[in-house]
Amino acid sequence: MPVSSVTLASGQEMPLVGFGLWKVPAEKAADIVYNAIKVGYRLFDGAYDYQNEKEAGQGVMRAISEGIVKREEIFITTKLWNNYHRKDHALQMAKAQNEAWGLGYLDLYLIHFPVALEYIDPETLRYPAWWMDAEHKTIRSAKVPMHETWQALEEVVDAGIAKSIGISNAQAQTLYDIQTYARHPISALQIEHHPYLVQPDLITLAQEKNIAVTAYSTFGPQSFLELPPAFRERAKDVPPLFEVKAVKAAAARTAKSPAQVLLRWATQRNIAVIPKSNNVDRLKQNLEVTDFDLTEQELKEISALDVGLRFNDPGFYLDEPLRIFA
Ligand code: NAD
Repeated sequence: MPVSSVTLASGQEMPLVGFGLWKVPAEKAADIVYNAIKVGYRLFDGAYDYQNEKEAGQGVMRAISEGIVKREEIFITTKLWNNYHRKDHALQMAKAQNEAWGLGYLDLYLIHFPVALEYIDPETLRYPAWWMDAEHKTIRSAKVPMHETWQALEEVVDAGIAKSIGISNAQAQTLYDIQTYARHPISALQIEHHPYLVQPDLITLAQEKNIAVTAYSTFGPQSFLELPPAFRERAKDVPPLFEVKAVKAAAARTAKSPAQVLLRWATQRNIAVIPKSNNVDRLKQNLEVTDFDLTEQELKEISALDVGLRFNDPGFYLDEPLRIFA
């Protein structure tokens, strides 16, 4: 069954369901991506920060060489890390990341976070790079305005390295700002979005401006329980979204799993999802989230779980907080 898609402002089609590559170990990434393609995934969501782009690309290449898919049927999203916002660095990174994937071009290149940090030689940046310097001690911001980075991304499009560009973890003000000078449209906005953090106004704004929204961490606390204590802190005591009443009731009515209900809660509102799983059954069920409908009442009841709880918040988990969501 082909996955539904959204049309980006650039004119490209982006699948509504993809596979997220965060925390996928590099040594397993090629096999995981190859198997995901066999199951039916066509979009892969990577980032320089995830340190598995080359291996993920090898998985795609294997599927292409075996005739399972063509390059143009695959959609690769990847992201520019915070230390490379200066124009020449952003151009170098886009080029290097594209070469790492080895697929000729990137489909969507995103600014990972709207915050510029001092340059660190990629050779010395260690995973998880997150926010620190090479010694993992201090966080140093860089004086790079957003328009410089956006213009670099536009050059990435002009050079044929990426077909579409966008931003992740941005709030309304950044979107309004970029739109005052954008030569190439903001095609996509990727944000944390789950029933505990709904951000309805941000989503309305993006959709009004023809910026496709992708939700990350759709399962809410689940993903953050696997991380070190500072990242786990906000996640450890909240009820798992798979067990809350509104989600379980919709799952029972539709004969789907709670995970599928959470993913459908997003896709039914034209929001793309990029869940991650290493388990074959879950991989399959996470893909089957565009062919059933929740009722308006179910959508509302799930959205009513909103408590503004953000798990991926560098204003909270960093020793020197970067309050970008204030
Ligand atoms: P997620 O919401 O996809 O949750 C992953 C967790 O849910 C894992 O523990 C997995 O085992 C479990 N899971 C997956 N499918 C399941 C199912 N069907 N039933 C039960 N459990 C299931 O979390 P995520 O990895 O945080 O987000 C998805 C992707 O979003 C990432 O891989 C990454 O590509 C992207 N992301 C982007 C940013 C950003 O800053 N732009 C931040 C976080 C994540």
